[in-house]
Amino acid sequence: MINNEIENLIKLISSLPGLGKRSARRIVLYLLNNREQKMYSISEELKNVAQSVKPCQTCGNLDTFEVCTICINENRDHSLICVVENVADLWALERAGIYKGMYHVLGGNLSALDNRGPKELNIESLLDRIKSEKIKEVILANSATVDGQTTAHYIASRLQGSNVTLTRLAHGLPIGGELDFLDDGTISQALKGRTSI
Ligand code: ZN
Repeated sequence: MINNEIENLIKLISSLPGLGKRSARRIVLYLLNNREQKMYSISEELKNVAQSVKPCQTCGNLDTFEVCTICINENRDHSLICVVENVADLWALERAGIYKGMYHVLGGNLSALDNRGPKELNIESLLDRIKSEKIKEVILANSATVDGQTTAHYIASRLQGSNVTLTRLAHGLPIGGELDFLDDGTISQALKGRTSI
């Protein structure tokens, strides 16, 4: 029999993405055995972050400021907006360290199955930015899934007639990737997007 309070904590932790009951039990025991070094600091940090982090008013990135660190950075290209599905994608692009423009976080994709229409996504705020800021190029970095591509097409259709250049990420072969290990979608996109050598 495990004490109720401990059991509740295990349940909470096992409800997190990527964690099952077994890992949750290990984590809880570890925390209880390392209260001073880990448990108190993690609980304090969780509370801090929960209270102080909010979506950026301009792009939807997460930060402790009303307007995020990327949006106020003068050294970045403010004429370039990269449209991403979520903050995880923004982080992935930032980790790559090549992109120096702005972002716009949609908050998901259009999905008939999940009943998610344009109003549920940050599309109007994107169109407003394109109108009011001096944007030259919009990169649609939606994923190569059906929903991702539907969303990209929808945004492209809403931007028809505007002066911005629309581009999208090349969905090519991963570096070092062997064709055999790739899914059909990746291979067909790589084939369609082929360039002369
Ligand atoms: Zn921002």
